[in-house]
Amino acid sequence: MKIFDIITIFPEAFSYINESIMWRAQNKGFAEINVHNLRDYSKNKRKKVDDTPYGGGAGMVMQAEPIYNAVKALRQAQSKKIKKTRVILLSAKGKIFNQKKAKNLLKYDQIIFICGRYEGVDERVAKYIADEEISIGEYVLTGGELPAMVITDAVVRLIPGVIKKKSLEEESFSSKKNTFVLEYPQYTKPEIVEIDEKKRKVPKVLLSGNHKKIEEWKEKFSRKIA
Ligand code: SAM
Repeated sequence: MKIFDIITIFPEAFSYINESIMWRAQNKGFAEINVHNLRDYSKNKRKKVDDTPYGGGAGMVMQAEPIYNAVKALRQAQSKKIKKTRVILLSAKGKIFNQKKAKNLLKYDQIIFICGRYEGVDERVAKYIADEEISIGEYVLTGGELPAMVITDAVVRLIPGVIKKKSLEEESFSSKKNTFVLEYPQYTKPEIVEIDEKKRKVPKVLLSGNHKKIEEWKEKFSRKIA
């Protein structure tokens, strides 16, 4: 059982985690995904979690204190059940996420995500509270909620038992003898689809029933990447 604890000021944005494979993984006991409202950890009367930046500048910055309270409480809440915790700060400045990183995160029993908003997060969170900063790509999003869902999804589907082993083995970014592959093209019924008045057909070999030839075709059209 892997535990994903997501700290956010927009808990209602997370309906995605209760759909499809993510829902099944939770239902079958492979994963537990909990979303926590950061405001519940603010000691401020108005549940404030942000303030103006020192030195001036545009926008607001998320405060370190409520985040520290939340991370501490979530670590403690699971401390009897689990051994290894990883605290991840979602950040456009972080290390870029990829499939290798998703596999690597499987070794933790609990992953705590800190979702930033506004201009970002007090730097003391990156320095003293989080174990690492992760970015999901070289662009700026409004908040860390989508990145937290992206990473959770990529990790959950790799938990043994969640998805059929064969599906994972053939999937893009799976590795064969240390070479990563991008999956071969997929086709489904009907055999002929009319697109812009042209009949677009399924490659003949896939209809041949010749398993050896089909495997060769799949191998040929799986792109190898370093
Ligand atoms: N001012 C920040 C900068 O220039 O790097 C951007 C802040 S962004 C509007 C607000 C929050 O969204 C960030 O604190 C982070 O949590 C999240 N975020 C934005 N882009 C991201 C990305 N590419 N990967 C991960 N998190 C991201």
